[in-house]
Amino acid sequence: MKIKDNCGVFGIYSNKDCVRDILQGIHLLQHRGQRYGGVATYNKKNGIRIITHRGWVEQKEQDHAFRSEEIKELRANFGIGHVSLKDRQPFLPNIKFNAGDFTVGFSGKIINAQRLRNMLKKEEGLSFNTDIGIIAQLIGRHSDIPSGIEQIYKQIKGSFALTVLTGEGIYCARDPYGLKPLILGNRDGTYAGASESRALQNLGIPLRRDVLPGEIIFIDKNGFKVLKKLKGKRRAYCAFEWAYIASMDSIIDGIPVKRARLNLGAKLARRDRIKADLVAGVPMSGIGHALGYHYESGIRYDDVYLYNRYSDRSYTPLEQKARDAIAKIKLSVIKDSVKGKRIVLCDDSIVRGTQIREKVKELKAAGVREVHVRVASPPLMAPCDYGLSTRSYRELIAINMSIEKIRRYIGATTLKYNALSDFVEAIGKPADELCLKCWTNEPVF
Ligand code: SF4
Repeated sequence: MKIKDNCGVFGIYSNKDCVRDILQGIHLLQHRGQRYGGVATYNKKNGIRIITHRGWVEQKEQDHAFRSEEIKELRANFGIGHVSLKDRQPFLPNIKFNAGDFTVGFSGKIINAQRLRNMLKKEEGLSFNTDIGIIAQLIGRHSDIPSGIEQIYKQIKGSFALTVLTGEGIYCARDPYGLKPLILGNRDGTYAGASESRALQNLGIPLRRDVLPGEIIFIDKNGFKVLKKLKGKRRAYCAFEWAYIASMDSIIDGIPVKRARLNLGAKLARRDRIKADLVAGVPMSGIGHALGYHYESGIRYDDVYLYNRYSDRSYTPLEQKARDAIAKIKLSVIKDSVKGKRIVLCDDSIVRGTQIREKVKELKAAGVREVHVRVASPPLMAPCDYGLSTRSYRELIAINMSIEKIRRYIGATTLKYNALSDFVEAIGKPADELCLKCWTNEPVF
């Protein structure tokens, strides 16, 4: 079992029809949310138009994919897109707002949702069950969007990256701690923002800069305009972005994800004196760590798993059993590469231990002599409160077992994790600017 991020946001103001760019943008963020995809655009004739689907964004010839008539219907020069693990967005509730018509894409988590729900019910007589509903309601009761977003900064305890679409343009905002990433880019007449830089880079949009924690930025045909800079008590960039969540071709808050993963792998290798025939990563997020280990140790790198690209065209099922079955089809062991070998197997983290245990079992069944598991992040000691698909304390194996017990449970020959100090150093940001709650159990606020 892997922890998963909940959502990815995207917004673009272009000098031409932008719908296909939005679809490509959210497709490039698919690793941040696989259950729903949605697009909202604005044009003068139709106002705001939203279409959402269950499933992956690019699923040609399937009835839940974005069809050509829908793409035509959405035609506009500006809009936002969203991928999600939990609900359909962009969100447009069926009520009249003071702020006028708008729709929101949100990535993050509201911790004090119940308190806000009660307050809104009492004051407005309305109550939404979802975080995105609360956000829309908080924004909508103000006369303009920036004041509404400012209220979110003041009232919400939690993390967020937001895109808000109106008839004038797009607002982008990031929580004052910087827990959720958001980056801007532009190219002659096109201005865009996205949860990760890969969505912009792969659209040929050069990166401009990260949205700073606490900033509210407006995007229209004139470019980016900073409307507000709200101060947080501290910065707390999610350290897991570099170790696991973000794609390896992204740059998060100035640090390339690949560079951080190579550093993490190198740190693991520096503490090791084992003899092995090859080093490999558990795809996909273990690959960068394995490469870093290989560069540092000089031990040969090889792929031991084949990634089955034809297994991609499926929903992410809700049941763990079905997800495990898909995981098996996705990765198969390349027996010829591993038979009789001593392998260093790198992974980003261990949650419950069931997945890495399965991987070790498969390698042993294929004739591997030794499997030395190396984990880029320190043992997970707390669930995430700020937007990852959270597991309870009970499910985290490192809370319940010593490292030696975990080793025996997963069947590895040896098992080592990166120390927290090495982990932080490898990422390259000071510890007091990172959220490290997964490992220290110290909340950000
Ligand atoms: S608790 Fe963990 S996953 Fe959540 S924001 Fe902090 S470091 Fe990231």
